[in-house]
Amino acid sequence: MDTPSEFGGSRQQIVDGFVVDVVPLLRWPGNQAEVRLDEPAHQLATSAAEVMRVQGTVVAESMSDSLRVSGPVYALWRGQCRRCLEDATGATLVEVDEIYERNPVEGETYRLAGEKLDLEPMIREVVLLSLPLAPLCSDDCAGPAPDRFPATVESDPASAGAADADGGDDAKPVGDPRWAALDAITFDDNS
Ligand SMILES: [Zn+2]
Repeated sequence: MDTPSEFGGSRQQIVDGFVVDVVPLLRWPGNQAEVRLDEPAHQLATSAAEVMRVQGTVVAESMSDSLRVSGPVYALWRGQCRRCLEDATGATLVEVDEIYERNPVEGETYRLAGEKLDLEPMIREVVLLSLPLAPLCSDDCAGPAPDRFPATVESDPASAGAADADGGDDAKPVGDPRWAALDAITFDDNS
């Protein structure tokens, strides 16, 4: 497929998947492998979101005895919208820029060992850190019933105090009915 140029830099591999052939890369500084990712993600999730697929194109470039791996990676995730509790999906962009070397620096670079380099553990790590902690189905999600339960509850202490002084219930924020049972619970930590 590709024509190796054994006596010059910029030999380029095209890789589909996570595993890069390290030997030809390290032969010359500047040698590159273009790694195309379009892979399902297995059990890559936080409590808020689960990754369904990882896509992107990163380049592994030889720097004498180390490799720099950089490029955009998209994590296609699904989760539950924090406002309306419906399914939410999205794509998070991660700009990968990591170094692999024989003697890695703890917490800063990754280990380069053997003839094959599997990028998957690193990709999983950076993708996991990029997932939304509180997903939204859309930026302007108004919640399940915006008229009755505004997604943005004002928290102006002055107006809240005034409402209390009136003794009226009109201005009181209405809770989500699914949590109504919680209203019946009383705590006596004020006694
Ligand atoms: Zn929503």
